[in-house]
Amino acid sequence: MGPVRIDLHTHSTASDGTEVPGDVVAAAAAAGLDVVALTDHDTTAGWVEATDSARRHGIDLVLGTEVSARAHGISIHLLSYLQDPTALALTHELDRTAEARVGRARSIVELLAQDYPITWDDVVAQSRDAVVLGRPHIADALVERGVVPDRDAAFARLLRADGPYHVPHYAPAGVDAVRAIRAAGGVPVFAHPGADARGEIVPDDVFDALAEAGLAGLEVDHRDHSPAQRTRLTAIAQRLGLFVTGSSDYHGSGKANRLGENLTGPEVLAEIEDQGTTKVVRP
Ligand code: AMP
Ligand code: FE
Ligand code: FE
Ligand code: ZN
Repeated sequence: MGPVRIDLHTHSTASDGTEVPGDVVAAAAAAGLDVVALTDHDTTAGWVEATDSARRHGIDLVLGTEVSARAHGISIHLLSYLQDPTALALTHELDRTAEARVGRARSIVELLAQDYPITWDDVVAQSRDAVVLGRPHIADALVERGVVPDRDAAFARLLRADGPYHVPHYAPAGVDAVRAIRAAGGVPVFAHPGADARGEIVPDDVFDALAEAGLAGLEVDHRDHSPAQRTRLTAIAQRLGLFVTGSSDYHGSGKANRLGENLTGPEVLAEIEDQGTTKVVRP
């Protein structure tokens, strides 16, 4: 038996991935992973289907959510692992964010429609069974209309956070999100905190505040992190006593990220399971 292959960050059609939850888990098993986490943005809607698929394909499954939040006005993402999906403080925040994302997507489409052939119905059609709307669904509508060739081009040209068509959405303060995740028995890990090519990243003091609120780990090995950011984040994790993870942030065909391209150590997974309120699904 080779080293255990653990990938703790993927998305399905429940949010902005392109494969249904069962297919994400099946693809993880086919890619030779031993453990995969499903972490859709602001929802647990894919958990039941993913669990069923993990049992059928014989792969261990960590159930989670990538929680949208803000710090110093900057959008940040917090992975929550193994939380109680019915805990009210967290589900209330997720519902509020998901609701705000709809109005925000409508606003972005209104702005785009002044210059490009795109309608709200296009975005609804592209979102299919998503319960959480994101800019990738708007990107897909722009691709369908022939405005851009793919999601990457849509973000680079039109949807980027510093672009003319950007509208932010409500999200809880990072420290409040960390507390809500802990209150739900989840294990909070700061997702891609050094992805500076994608947009603004938070300064060091935010890590201290999140750690004080109960943050457990940092996602350090991620394709959007430069070597310099990995070095910086590893030092911050050591200083604050946080564990480090590595993951793919797989979105199906919506992004170049491949399953298993970054991995998390088995000792870190054991720590996550120890701190989490639910168990890893083991077929
Ligand atoms: P939103 O959650 O609506 O703010 O949109 C952010 C999401 O867009 C992220 O979770 C990524 O999945 C996706 N995204 C960001 N940049 C790109 C890109 N260059 N190409 C494809 N998807 C992207
Ligand atoms: Fe995403
Ligand atoms: Fe993210
Ligand atoms: Zn993600």
